[in-house]
Amino acid sequence: MKQVIVVGGGLAGLMATLRLGERGYRVKLFSIVPVKRSHSVCAQGGINAAINAKGEGDSPWLHFYETIYGGDFLANQVPVLGMAELAPKIVYLFDRMGVPFNRTPEGNIDFRRFGGTLFHRTAFAGATTGQQLLYALDEQVRKLEVDQKVIKYEPYQLMKLIISDDGVCRGVVVMNLYNGEIETHLANVVILATGGLGYMFKENTNSIINTGSAGSIAYQQGAYFANPEFIQVHPTAMKGYDKNRLISESVRGEGGRVWAYDSNGRKVYFLEEWYPGYGNLVPRDIASRAIFKAVHELGYHTAEGEPMVYLDITELVKEKGKDYVKAKLGGVLEIYEKFTGVDPYSNPMKIFPAVHYSMGGLWVDYNQMTNIPGLFAIGEQDYQYHGANRLGANSLLSCLYAGYIMPNIIDNYLKQVDSNFDSQKLIKRYVDEVKDELNRIRNLKGSINPYKLADEFRTVMSKYVTVIRNQEGLNYAYNFVKEALEKYNDINIYDNQSYYANTTLSYVKQLRDMMILALAIIKGAIERKESRGAHYRIDYENRDDINYLKTTKAKFNPNTLEPEITYEEVDTRILKPQEREYKSSHKEKIAKALKLYEQAKPIIEQLNIYANFV
Ligand SMILES: Cc1cc2nc3c(=O)[nH]c(=O)nc-3n(C[C@H](O)[C@H](O)[C@H](O)COP(=O)(O)OP(=O)(O)OC[C@H]3O[C@@H](n4cnc5c(N)ncnc54)[C@H](O)[C@@H]3O)c2cc1C
Repeated sequence: MKQVIVVGGGLAGLMATLRLGERGYRVKLFSIVPVKRSHSVCAQGGINAAINAKGEGDSPWLHFYETIYGGDFLANQVPVLGMAELAPKIVYLFDRMGVPFNRTPEGNIDFRRFGGTLFHRTAFAGATTGQQLLYALDEQVRKLEVDQKVIKYEPYQLMKLIISDDGVCRGVVVMNLYNGEIETHLANVVILATGGLGYMFKENTNSIINTGSAGSIAYQQGAYFANPEFIQVHPTAMKGYDKNRLISESVRGEGGRVWAYDSNGRKVYFLEEWYPGYGNLVPRDIASRAIFKAVHELGYHTAEGEPMVYLDITELVKEKGKDYVKAKLGGVLEIYEKFTGVDPYSNPMKIFPAVHYSMGGLWVDYNQMTNIPGLFAIGEQDYQYHGANRLGANSLLSCLYAGYIMPNIIDNYLKQVDSNFDSQKLIKRYVDEVKDELNRIRNLKGSINPYKLADEFRTVMSKYVTVIRNQEGLNYAYNFVKEALEKYNDINIYDNQSYYANTTLSYVKQLRDMMILALAIIKGAIERKESRGAHYRIDYENRDDINYLKTTKAKFNPNTLEPEITYEEVDTRILKPQEREYKSSHKEKIAKALKLYEQAKPIIEQLNIYANFV
C-alpha cells in the first residue's frame, strides 16, 4: 500500500487525509498541535458556495467572477473555476456529515452575505463554522485511524524535508515535541497543509502556531514561494494586549455598520459614503485602507478620541431583536464581550485592522505540486486561489477544495515517479543535519532574549509591511530583518538542557524560519512597483498590468539567506483583466459578468476542470 505523509491537520490536511485514506492510501498525519486545535478551529463566519438558496441568480460562474475580480486578477483562473464549481458539493458533503449549519425557517441551509459580493453565498454554523467543519472531519478521520489507515502524530514539528539526490521529496524529519526525539518518516508523497504565517506580524488575528515555519523550511530547501508580498489585513479586529482578535466580516454581512467621529464630532459612515455600490461589504483590502485613511489622514476617532473606528450592530439588535442576532453572531460577540467587558448588543464595538491571512504561499502547479517533485502544498500554505486579495469565506473553501482533489492527483503522480533511492544514506544525512542545527540552537548562549528579538521583528513587520507601504519603509524593514538574522547567533536559549517539552527550542528554530521568509515578503513588496489588491504602495498608486500582471516567485539563496525574485505570467484565459472598483452597483457588475460568461463558455468547455473531482 502506498504511503502518504500529510503535515498539518487543519481543514486542508484533514480533508486530504480523509480522501486519501478512503482511496486506499496509508496516511501519516503530523501536526504541531493536536489537530482539533489547528488554526481552522478559529474560523468564524462561514464558507462560500454559490447554491443560490435565496433565488438571487447566483451561480458558480459568478462566484468565480467575483473571486477573480476581488483578487485584482492575480489568481490563475483555471483552479479558481474548479473551486467555485465544486463548492456546492463540498457544503452538501459537510451537511451530510452532520455539521449544524444554520437553517432557514423552511429547514434549508441558510446563507449570509460576505465582502466583495452582495449575494447570500456563505453557509455558516453560527459564528463557529471552522470548529464545526474541523470537528466533523476529525470524526471521519478517526474511523480511518481505527482501521490503521491513518496514524496521527501530535504534537510533532516539521524540521526538514527529505529530498533524494534526484530532487524528489521522499519524506520528513520531525521532532516529537513531548520528548525532543528526532524521527524520520519516508513516504511516496509529502503534502504540506501547514497553514498561514500571520504570527510574523505583531498585530494579527492568527494563532501563535501560525509562524510560517513549515513553508519557510520548504522554501529554504528549494521550493518557490509565490506572491509572498500579498498579506491580507482584515479591517475589523479588536486590539488586545497579547494579540488582536477578529470580529468577523459576517457581522457586516448581517448588517453591522462601520463609522467614526470626524473632527467636528459628526458620525461618518465612511464606507457607505465612499463606496455606495457595496457599502460595508467592500472587500477587505479596500475596507482596511479606508479605515487607515479615515483614522490617519482624516483624524476620525472614537468618542474617547482613540485612533479606531466603530463596528455597530446596535440598530440591527433594535430592528431584529437580540435573540435573532445572537443566533447568527453569538460566538463572535461573546469574544468581544469577554475581552473588553463591553456588551456589543448595546454598544458599538471598537475595531481596527490587523494582519489576517497570507494570499502568498508555496508555488504549486494546477495539481498542487510544488517545484520539488513529490512535495505538494494545500490550504493557506499554497498561493493558488486568491490572487492579490482573498474574499471572505473563500479560504475554508480553498482549503477543503485542494484537500478534496488530492486522490486523483496522487494516483497520477505515482504512475510516473521512480521510487528507487538509497534511503539509509539519505536518512543519516538529514538526521545529522537536523541534529547539528538543534545543537547549534542549544548552544546559543549570547545576550539576546529570543522572545524580545521576535517582538521587535514582528513590530517592524506590522509597521512597514502591511496596509500602506513605500520604498523607504520597506527598505528599512528589509535591513532590520537582515540585521536581526545576524543577531540570531547572539541569542540566549536559556533552557539548553531539557528535551521534554522544550518550547524555547521549538520557538527559536521557528524564529529563524520566520525571519528568512520575511525577507521574501519584503523583497516581493519592494520589487512590485505598483498597487494591486492588498499590496498598496503610496509611491506607486496604480495597478500596472503591463509590468506586474505576474506571479512573484521567490527562490531562496542559501549563501546570502536572501530571496531571488522572478515573475511568471498569470493565466487569464477565461476572463480578461478589467479595472477593479466597488463604487458602481452590484447589479451592473453582475449584468456585465453574465455577458462575459457567454464569451468564456467555449474556452471553459475545452478545460477539463472536473477531472480531479472524483
Ligand atoms: C480568526 C480567523 C477567522 C477566520 N474565519 C474564516 C471564515 O469564516 N471563513 C474562511 O473562509 N476563512 C476564515 N479564516 C481563514 C481560515 O480560517 C484559514 O485560512 C484556514 O482555516 C487555514 O486552514 P489550513 O488547513 O490551511 O491551516 P490550519 O488550520 O492553520 O492548519 C495548519 C496545520 O498545520 C500544522 N502545522 C503548522 N506548522 C507546523 C509545523 N511546523 N510542523 C508540523 N505541523 C505544523 C498545525 O498544527 C495545523 O494542524 C479565518 C482566519 C482567522 C485568523
